[in-house]
Amino acid sequence: MKITIIAGARPNFIKIAPIIKAIEKKQNEGATISYRLVHTGQHYDKNLSDTFFEELNIPKPNSNLEVKSGSQAEQTGAIMVAFEKELQQNPCDLVLVVGDVNSTMACAIVAKKQNLKVAHVEAGIRSGDMTMPEEINRIVTDSITDYFFTTSTSASENLLKYGVDATNVHFVGNVMIDTLYQNLDRIFEPFFWNEYQLETGNYIILTLHRPSNVDEEQSLIQLLQGIDKLAGDKKVIFPIHPRTKAILGETNLELKNILFVEPQGYLNFMYLIKNSFAVITDSGGISEETTVMGIPCFTMRNNTERPETQIIGTNTLVGTSIENLEKLFGEFLKNGKRQAGIPELWDGKASERIIEILLQK
Ligand code: UDP
Repeated sequence: MKITIIAGARPNFIKIAPIIKAIEKKQNEGATISYRLVHTGQHYDKNLSDTFFEELNIPKPNSNLEVKSGSQAEQTGAIMVAFEKELQQNPCDLVLVVGDVNSTMACAIVAKKQNLKVAHVEAGIRSGDMTMPEEINRIVTDSITDYFFTTSTSASENLLKYGVDATNVHFVGNVMIDTLYQNLDRIFEPFFWNEYQLETGNYIILTLHRPSNVDEEQSLIQLLQGIDKLAGDKKVIFPIHPRTKAILGETNLELKNILFVEPQGYLNFMYLIKNSFAVITDSGGISEETTVMGIPCFTMRNNTERPETQIIGTNTLVGTSIENLEKLFGEFLKNGKRQAGIPELWDGKASERIIEILLQK
């Protein structure tokens, strides 16, 4: 079986790393399976791309479509045009896409129109929020996917509700957590650890990049000022996403606790999360990682496509207002961490399950 694997953006790189390892393991055992790695170039900054390839030992992509930034339509269209050529020149049996970025949807459409099988890793999750480009990407991708690999039983149930044939829905666990387990003994402190006098449990991690939080400069500033205040005597490490940085521009903010740093590589970032007091974020992936590491996570969104992080894990859905964050963070300071567990099958073996199943198709 010849598989073309698609990766375009930071969370994709983290998800494909263990899948590639699982394929290579099967190859070593003599299975007839090969892969070609296509980077669409959706994320191209060193900090958001190359660093992840290096740190996670992901092989150099066989092809880079170099689409770079653009509007939603420009980027999606550019990926489709370039990937169509790529597939014509390098035929395969199956295209494997992960997650919910534009590359996921664009490449799934192109593959399906060439009558190829499509496998979607992290299928079936839904926020119900059609204002998010990711939700549209998920729905379109799942509408043309052949093999669905899910991270939770609720994601599988969503797919069955939409009429997907149950024999093609496979609850396998979470590949992002495979990467976490594979790298926990490699994480290390960032260079600013001593300079900022960070110690286990004495700082907060903040990440924000979703349009609902960062696209309006004034409300972003208010949010940052509010977080700076609620942190009390704790430092807040804020690896600033290029999108957020562009909005803030040269704005000079007088913040007592928040320290702006570059987007972190995976190994530094996981070290920072694992040793933090709490995390404030609008990322989906981070709410999964904090759940596994037992770190309280406050998600600045009105909804989540990952309800298990809330029901079983450490995630608290805040909404986007600073008032709500103040209230919920205040309750946490008073009551301490709540009891949490790890969702079913988030055991580090999801990628091996996926490849095992694909080999039987
Ligand atoms: N991440 C990282 N460095 C950072 C911020 C995030 O390595 O400075 C990792 C994070 O741990 C998670 C992934 O990037 O594994 C999430 O990416 P992002 O927030 O861009 O995507 P989302 O989860 O929102 O789709």
